[in-house]
Amino acid sequence: MGRTAEALPDPLVEALAALSTVSSVLVVVDFDGVMAPIRADRSAVRPLVANQRALQSLAGVEGVSVALLSGRTLAELREISQEPTGVILVGSHGSEVAGARLALTHEEEILRQQAIVALQSIARDRPGVEVEEKPVGAALHTRRARRDVALHATSDATLAATRLRGTHLLVGKEVVEILVSHVTKGDGLNRLRAQIQPEVTVYLGDDKTDEDAFAVMRPSDISVKVGEGPTHARFRIDRPATVAAVLTAIRAGRGRARRRDPDTSVAG
Ligand SMILES: [Mg+2]
Repeated sequence: MGRTAEALPDPLVEALAALSTVSSVLVVVDFDGVMAPIRADRSAVRPLVANQRALQSLAGVEGVSVALLSGRTLAELREISQEPTGVILVGSHGSEVAGARLALTHEEEILRQQAIVALQSIARDRPGVEVEEKPVGAALHTRRARRDVALHATSDATLAATRLRGTHLLVGKEVVEILVSHVTKGDGLNRLRAQIQPEVTVYLGDDKTDEDAFAVMRPSDISVKVGEGPTHARFRIDRPATVAAVLTAIRAGRGRARRRDPDTSVAG
């Protein structure tokens, strides 16, 4: 199945192998930049085939819960993830779990509308800058914009957020979001853990927003940063194409734990 554990750093291989001795594992995977390489056209992003197969396969293993946690809306995540069977989908950094979204107060909804209007005026006359209306705020995407245009738009959005009292700014790769409800991926991860009660959590993320999730993890958990950049994660892998090796290593370990052939049904 594609790349093997040889692509992984030894300490990570050892940590993943140790999962064979725990009762339950929650594996949480970010989507963009982890399951799939980042692309300029957000709607064209699809998971790497090896990653999708490994994720799907892991979701069928006893004692393992698997979730995709993304900053994208749940509707978008459903579309681009191709809804792998048995995988919990969590959108908007944790505001939307399995279709249930946090209800906004009247004041928050007004702020959300103001944030949308503010970002739309920033995007106007700036080619490649796009606004996305989100359940708990609005996002400004700059992946398709010229670099100088992206820089100015981002700095204007930052200023707009400081003017909208009660909102906060979330900065990611080529995206800034003005949020009216303070939900981070740390909150999203905590919600999942409260629901599933795993003994150990594994989290794979590539972006600044994933650092909020890394921050709420325990020393015995396994946090994995994908790609370059500063991080608080315990481990690092080089790129999305290496993610399948991590998922496969977890599955192999769990197979040993059950003393049975780990080769379960894999569609396609
Ligand atoms: Mg990401």
